[in-house]
Amino acid sequence: VAGPAPPTWHDQDRLLGGLLSPAFDEQFCRSRYTSSLYRRPSPFRPSTYLVERLRRYEARHRQCGPGAPLFKDAVEHLRSGRNAARSECQYVVWTPINGLGNRMLSLASTFLYALLTDRVLLVHAPQEFDGLFCEPFPGSSWALPAGFPITDFAGIFTMGSPTSYKNMWQAGAVGGDHRNVTAESLPAYVFLDLIQSFTDAAFCEADQRVLAKFNWVVVKSDVYFATMFFLMPAYERELARLFPEKEAVFHHLARYLFHPSDDVWGIVRRYYGAYLARADERVGLQVRVFPEMPVPFENMYGQILRCSEQEAGLLPKVAHKDGAAANHSSAVASSGSRNSKLTSILVTSLFSDYYERIRGVYYASPTETGEFVEVHQPSHEREQRTEARAHNQRALAEMYLLSFCDRIVTTAVSTFGYIAHGLAGVRPWVLLRPPSPEAPVDPACVRSKTAEPCLQAPPRRMCGVAEGTDIGALVPYARHCEDDHKGLKLF
Ligand code: GDP
Repeated sequence: VAGPAPPTWHDQDRLLGGLLSPAFDEQFCRSRYTSSLYRRPSPFRPSTYLVERLRRYEARHRQCGPGAPLFKDAVEHLRSGRNAARSECQYVVWTPINGLGNRMLSLASTFLYALLTDRVLLVHAPQEFDGLFCEPFPGSSWALPAGFPITDFAGIFTMGSPTSYKNMWQAGAVGGDHRNVTAESLPAYVFLDLIQSFTDAAFCEADQRVLAKFNWVVVKSDVYFATMFFLMPAYERELARLFPEKEAVFHHLARYLFHPSDDVWGIVRRYYGAYLARADERVGLQVRVFPEMPVPFENMYGQILRCSEQEAGLLPKVAHKDGAAANHSSAVASSGSRNSKLTSILVTSLFSDYYERIRGVYYASPTETGEFVEVHQPSHEREQRTEARAHNQRALAEMYLLSFCDRIVTTAVSTFGYIAHGLAGVRPWVLLRPPSPEAPVDPACVRSKTAEPCLQAPPRRMCGVAEGTDIGALVPYARHCEDDHKGLKLF
């Protein structure tokens, strides 16, 4: 039996234009240098400056990260409860909240924050998050080591926490006039609470100057707050050099940071080899039905069909019993193999009914062009179980499988979908959200103007900008999202 064609290097360089460091042993993380081969070559190249900054970051991470003497010193200061005046190394610790898509968006954003502020990124990985990704930085680790003085992340980092920057600021603990706060007078760490509907606190220049004095920052967020840095004049020049193509910010960050562990990669490779490799064209269809917006099956299915009709040929057209199409298809059928194109539709969803209906349609009827269509869905978990590691591994595998598709259809406001098209660097078709579960949606979908994820629920106003100014009109490269009119995304 002929096996699936192994991916080839095309002319795509295995380090993704220098994005990836060559310093890793391939044996320990199979996905790192191979996952991009499963996609069409990326239309985006990282800037030479981004590449240079990543190598500098890696050197700094080795110098300051777990295992290094400087790390020991910094942890001692953290333990002492007081911030050190001068510290060779500064850190940002990321702690997870909400679903995997949310987590990956906020982790990538935290890494951008680390790059911009010369901090070292460390990750608090509870058991359900552990084992999803390979280490991204050569010669060191991003995991908080055993014995780290902060352990009760869930208990300490809450909205009302006195360690939260916003709360410190409101209590006057970081001073009325920010410039006068000395580093020694500050606590050993500060908590940046950037959960949905955060405010501009922390994103004004005066805030950034105070935050810069803390050697330890802990970030908890469920959104793609990376977009916020693009609204800040202080980072404008640096970001322009790092990311001349604003549409590819997440694409580069995610391909740099996220490498599925060997366990997850095993799922991806086996599934791809068995079900997708032979297809001439792959279409990814992500159907997310949110518990707070329980769109009935028939409505959602109807919306998918209308989207496909409206965006001619998104899903291969089925031939109807009468008219020209039927003549064409019977001609195709009788002539045998006029069109031997194979299209694979990859459905991802917590439920199996979309997959079953769509597969049934192609089982019962030929396509207009005579092409063959196969329909697959890797899992149907029924419900989100973020606390279960194996569940998250399958979710991550499916995000990658979707990202290997040539055309990607996602569900509005799903961060799961954002990860897939962001990794792929493709502009998705987005099934728009109805105003209420049973209300009609028109149009059924739109083609996104960018591969970037949407920052959902950004602050309503930005520091220093006149009240009432639209946050989507502050800079030419950030606009409101197609799927979330309050949200903001880079173009
Ligand atoms: P969002 O809620 O759509 O923004 O995406 P998140 O990834 O943050 O949270 C949804 C979670 O539900 C995922 O991380 C998975 O745990 C689960 N989930 C949702 N849709 C799917 C799916 O199509 N496949 C799998 N395996 N899990 C899913």
